[in-house]
Amino acid sequence: MIYFDHNATTPVDTRVAEAMLPYITTFYGNPSSLYKLGRIARSAIDTAREQVAALVDAQPAQIIFTSGGTEANNLALSVMPINSAIAVSAIEHPSVVEFSSQWKNNRQSIPVDSAGLVSISTIKAIFKQAAIPRLVSVMMANNETGAIQDIEEIAEFLSSKQVLMHTDAVQAIGKMPVSFAQLGADLMSVSSHKIYGPKGCGALVFDKKIEINPLLIGGGQENGLRAGTENVAAIVGFGKAAELAVLEMDQRAEHCLVLRLRLEQGLKTIPNVTVFSEQVARLPNTVQFSIQGIDGEMLLMQLDRKNIAVSSGSACASGGGKASPVLTAMGIDYQIAKSAIRVSFGKNNTEEEINQFILVLKSFLTKDR
Ligand code: PLP
Repeated sequence: MIYFDHNATTPVDTRVAEAMLPYITTFYGNPSSLYKLGRIARSAIDTAREQVAALVDAQPAQIIFTSGGTEANNLALSVMPINSAIAVSAIEHPSVVEFSSQWKNNRQSIPVDSAGLVSISTIKAIFKQAAIPRLVSVMMANNETGAIQDIEEIAEFLSSKQVLMHTDAVQAIGKMPVSFAQLGADLMSVSSHKIYGPKGCGALVFDKKIEINPLLIGGGQENGLRAGTENVAAIVGFGKAAELAVLEMDQRAEHCLVLRLRLEQGLKTIPNVTVFSEQVARLPNTVQFSIQGIDGEMLLMQLDRKNIAVSSGSACASGGGKASPVLTAMGIDYQIAKSAIRVSFGKNNTEEEINQFILVLKSFLTKDR
């Protein structure tokens, strides 16, 4: 099988699975228990916290483990009461967009340009309106197009206005350098399963001056900020995945970029192909494109029959029959947006797989036309 959908999820690295196993079978203690078995689990969580902090250049005390990127995004926005004004970009993940709908008229959507970028002038324009937001959320790297925002520039401006900034860095970590210390953002979401860690685990990285408003109330886990017995094995796996990402990021990014360029070169030999956000900095592993006149979902199914897994947009939105909200926000024509296919590579993909993909694609197109 050719797996080209790493932005949806990644396979768990065997080194990660090996690191997790003892915390399922042998060291099953509750990390809140005071005896040895509990202390071993606690210590494993502490190590994972250090490993995740190291990946994003933050302090371990700034990490709150969550059930994933979705919960981290929900938790981040929850620092704002729903009677406060907030602004979220038009290309956010549903865990930001849908969650922020609770703010109703107190929420405004920040438009993006045709490349999917939020410009600093757009951010500045928000401040000329009546309801000045107290929190702004802009995704670091888009899950569909891979377009990378200048979060540092936005954060610097927002900080000068004493406005909080949240960034969803779920797709960015492990694929590009991310330094929470340098970024100037106040809140940042990350997830384990996009970096070869297990699903159902993530973290919110936060500036200690922010008052977190816990979503889960109960025991005092995660410093009272996220109650519930910790998913020790998953947290250990996330930590190991983060450690490997630190060690291997440059090599993985370089490898993916070679594949991306090879694919883009191949796509240029197919008529009427549009690569979205082509003109701006993008994640090394992501290419979203459309072939005029071809339905994206249909193409996805045809590729599936050939054992090639791609996405027709974000995994969460697929099957909805609608054009991707991200492409729609970029002003892409409905028919072109409906034909979008997202290919996202991982560390184990090969150039041979790209060549095969191009061949299969071409064979469908000659049959179709
Ligand atoms: N944010 C982005 C940009 C994502 O791509 C995803 C997952 O697709 C999420 C958040 C949600 O993360 P999780 O699946 O860990 O809840």
